[in-house]
Amino acid sequence: MNFGHIENTEINNKFCFVCGDDIIKNNIVYYKINDIWKIYDFCQLCTTELLKRKWFDFIKNIKKADCEKELKALLNKKIPNKLTIDSTINSQEIDELYWNDNFISSHLIIPNHIDNSALNKKLNLISIKINENLIFDYLNEIKLLFEEFNL
Ligand SMILES: [Zn+2]
Repeated sequence: MNFGHIENTEINNKFCFVCGDDIIKNNIVYYKINDIWKIYDFCQLCTTELLKRKWFDFIKNIKKADCEKELKALLNKKIPNKLTIDSTINSQEIDELYWNDNFISSHLIIPNHIDNSALNKKLNLISIKINENLIFDYLNEIKLLFEEFNL
């Protein structure tokens, strides 16, 4: 792959949003979305960490949400299977990564025993109830759901 056309115009003054290191040829990451490659906002090391950690972070955030408003915001989006454009739950999943002459899967590391789409379906049911302002113990339902999935 030749990304020279992007590098020359966009790499200047770009830095990793996690560690702050300058993005240079040795740590640059490209991501693909809708068949268009762009420079990622994270360096190779931080992207590797994000792939390992991000799914668990989303679960942690839902677990520690202690008010309805926060939970509502989190559950309105599904937990991604793949790394997203800005690595948050709110942005679009990216198709593929590329660095050091290798295509890298954008799939997040998810525990083997977890069916992410089954988990999302159940979280969505709780989300619907919250959005309809039904009165129920949503924190307990989340707790029971995570117990069911051994999380
Ligand atoms: Zn970094």
